[in-house]
Amino acid sequence: MKRNIRSIAIIGGGPSGCALATLLKRKGFNVAVFYLEKRPEIIVGESLLPAIIPLLRKLGVEDEVKSYSTYKPGASVWVNKEEEATSPFSFGGGGLPPYAYNVPRLKFDKTIFDLAVREGVTFFNHVAKIEKTGNGDELKLAAETIDATGDYFKGQPDLIVDATGRSRTISRLLNIPTKEGERKDIAVFAHLSNAEKIEPYNIHLHRLEHGWTWRIPLPDRTSVGVVIDPKHLAKYGATREEQYDNILKTDETLVKFTQHAKRETGVVQYNNYQLISQKMYGTNWLLAGDAGGFLDPIFSSGLFLAIKSSFSACDAIMEGTDAAFKKYEKNQMHELYVWQKLVNTWYSGGLFTLMTVGKERMDTAFGRFIGPHMQRHLTRIFTGEAVYKNYSRGFLRFILGPMIRLMKVGRLHNRNISDLAIK
Ligand SMILES: Cc1cc2nc3c(=O)[nH]c(=O)nc-3n(C[C@H](O)[C@H](O)[C@H](O)COP(=O)(O)OP(=O)(O)OC[C@H]3O[C@@H](n4cnc5c(N)ncnc54)[C@H](O)[C@@H]3O)c2cc1C
Repeated sequence: MKRNIRSIAIIGGGPSGCALATLLKRKGFNVAVFYLEKRPEIIVGESLLPAIIPLLRKLGVEDEVKSYSTYKPGASVWVNKEEEATSPFSFGGGGLPPYAYNVPRLKFDKTIFDLAVREGVTFFNHVAKIEKTGNGDELKLAAETIDATGDYFKGQPDLIVDATGRSRTISRLLNIPTKEGERKDIAVFAHLSNAEKIEPYNIHLHRLEHGWTWRIPLPDRTSVGVVIDPKHLAKYGATREEQYDNILKTDETLVKFTQHAKRETGVVQYNNYQLISQKMYGTNWLLAGDAGGFLDPIFSSGLFLAIKSSFSACDAIMEGTDAAFKKYEKNQMHELYVWQKLVNTWYSGGLFTLMTVGKERMDTAFGRFIGPHMQRHLTRIFTGEAVYKNYSRGFLRFILGPMIRLMKVGRLHNRNISDLAIK
């Protein structure tokens, strides 16, 4: 059955909400976004994947993003204290640009917001309130919200999109079941000046005694985040500032990079991640971006997935059939699950094992045979391409499963995967 959708209320003026608003406006829909003008001092999510570049080009904002960001040619991952594996994105081959950007998030979000303004989207600086109508899972904007718009929709909008990110406004209201990942880590992060210089401007990921850390080189600062089990973090102090400062001062790995650094911002904490909603649409609503699900940040997939979901949501809304909404839901959930599997191989130690073995065994005949192939497909995890190519996915399944076991039998490596798990 085709829904008659002409007017759409998008709740949330972040990247997924504003990208979707732009795309829908371009297709002639009557669309308005509810947003909150007050922004935090810093927002997490500063490292982009090459996979997002084609989407930024379609939106028409790559040049603007480039103007205030650092050019990111790859990802560097410390397997342990001594060993580093660097993947320039160019090693991935494939169809994506061999670069991405590290973006100051406030500027990035403003770029997508300003784009929607230029395209003629209507904005309301208002916390939208949604209510159940009492008719199944049907929703409506509350009377005060309709008032705040001056009855912009002339009654209720035909569709309400939840793009409120991790606030998950609709899912919470309707009690939609979720699947959560196994890890219950916390991330604390801040911007530092005078941290060790990173060149070229790769994202750097390091293992810590407990958990891991990211370093993202921004134009004038370095974003440093620590992802860690809360029980370990608690040992570093009572407040989140104390905890963050003390872990930087005492962790052997972090000391190396931050001993001369100064914290320039407050410390922001994020918890509750790895969550996939078990429904992505209903009678007159749809979830986009993080509101539908989010993953551990290890592969910097968040903004790409959020904006990609806006493109997919726009297609579904244009088609307007139940089948199109169902397909949107199925694809969104499938995609999140595949990424989640990759995230699990990072934490289980599987990915580190392969990187270590790759470095150790390049001098054997088997290593020389499989090495370039392995390098290409492992790099595609960091570009974002691996998830979308059947061959890449199959190859990764093989090297992360049977191949590691084969190597063990052939004594090509002598480590237990669990030795390299993130604790
Ligand atoms: C620790 C951590 C590290 C991360 N690192 C990366 C990374 O390196 N790279 C990357 O790509 N991604 C990263 N992410 C993920 C990334 O930040 C998100 O995927 C992305 O911000 C999702 O965009 P969104 O538009 O869906 O949601 P959001 O960016 O959260 O935007 C939602 C917007 O809705 C607004 N809002 C909420 N409620 C209401 C309401 N009732 N009415 C009106 N407005 C409302 C909020 O103010 C906000 O502006 C990270 C996430 C975490 C937690």
